[in-house]
Amino acid sequence: MLNIVIFGAPGAGKGTQSERLVEKYHLTHISTGDLLRKEIADGTELGKRIKGIMDAGNLVGDDIVTEMIDNAIAKDDKGILFDGFPRNVAQAETLDKLLEKHGRKLTCMVSLDVPREELVRRMLERAKISGRSDDNETTIMNRLKEYEAKTLPVAAYYEKKGLHIKVNGYGTIDDIFSSIVNEIEKIK
Ligand code: ADP
Repeated sequence: MLNIVIFGAPGAGKGTQSERLVEKYHLTHISTGDLLRKEIADGTELGKRIKGIMDAGNLVGDDIVTEMIDNAIAKDDKGILFDGFPRNVAQAETLDKLLEKHGRKLTCMVSLDVPREELVRRMLERAKISGRSDDNETTIMNRLKEYEAKTLPVAAYYEKKGLHIKVNGYGTIDDIFSSIVNEIEKIK
């Protein structure tokens, strides 16, 4: 059973590549960003608590996403593509524990490498159509700052475990997808 983390800065193309990967490998797509946005859209208590945090481009509390991931793994029987999680080293440690608790192991973490200027360009482009309240220039800059300070160390965490696969995320969607598949086929 494959259990893969897709990793990269905001705007790196995780969502786009995730859609294709889950189809090809019949995985369950768990996007913490999507799950959190659903809470807001549904107007739940949790949604009300996290809206301001997400609109500012800050990370929501680890406890909140941990519970979501624990529930998602418990429900799944296909293998999971984790998108947007883990987003800091504490969450990476949590993921290890949760996978172990459910008798699973991480296959690899695929990280999409994209130059910063291109990330900003893509997000500003997406802002025109996404309707996401965090796709505006101020929040985009803060999301990149959060990424560099808190999320980037997660790559080193998996590098140490020999599970980090880096893929060039700058190019056509098809070419990037081929590179990812190529890497997964080598180890699966
Ligand atoms: P992007 O990676 O393009 O910024 P996401 O949809 O992955 O978009 O995340 C949007 C927002 O959701 C983040 O800025 C953050 O506030 C929140 N979020 C998503 N995943 C997590 C997580 N694992 N831990 C904390 N906050 C998260």
